[in-house]
Amino acid sequence: MVNFGHFVRAENNNLPPLQVHPLPISLQNWTSNIKEDYFKEIEPHLAGYLIWSTFPVKVYLQSSDTNLSPAGLKDFQQWQKAANMAIATWNSYIPLISVETSEDANILIYRRYPEFKAEINPETGLYNLPRAKAATTTVKFYLTQTKPSQLRHRMTIEVNPHQTFDYLITNITHELGHALGIWGHSLQKTDIMYYSHTKEIPAISPQDINTLKKIYQQPTRLGWDIN
Ligand SMILES: [Zn+2]
Repeated sequence: MVNFGHFVRAENNNLPPLQVHPLPISLQNWTSNIKEDYFKEIEPHLAGYLIWSTFPVKVYLQSSDTNLSPAGLKDFQQWQKAANMAIATWNSYIPLISVETSEDANILIYRRYPEFKAEINPETGLYNLPRAKAATTTVKFYLTQTKPSQLRHRMTIEVNPHQTFDYLITNITHELGHALGIWGHSLQKTDIMYYSHTKEIPAISPQDINTLKKIYQQPTRLGWDIN
């Protein structure tokens, strides 16, 4: 599930031009006999493709929850374990690092009910209504305080804690796929980015990584200087 955050209030012509970043080495080295991808299902944003250009990407995982019973603490630790497994699987393709504080993180993962709110999509003027509550990923944009300033983004993942361990792994892995730039869904059940939950628990497939690689070869305004 993906929601668009509010886009930065900047005139289009003040935004950095669309440019291509170098591929991270791990994606550069990726090859597979399977050539299929679902790149046509990926939506480019006004900011271009929602890709990272500074590696490793910093991931903050909610580290504590207040007033947990012993059973609650055990659930929390299982949730953290599932999230760490999801981070580890993507780390083979996009370098990721866990950070202790949320302030300078690029991707934030929280254990809480995804907020059910209607947001107006700035492109279409229509309401985006979340259609499932297992997990959501939201993007927000900001300008860095550097001179010149850069356009950057931040992804927030909210994961419903009340899911079995296997579903937690699948759902967090799926949401991390969105947070890493796969802003769309596969139509194949065998891909982690399949649009719906299935009984079979998929892993990251060659089609997922072919798509990710193609996305990282696309131009973006993110990570470039404002004129
Ligand atoms: Zn999704």
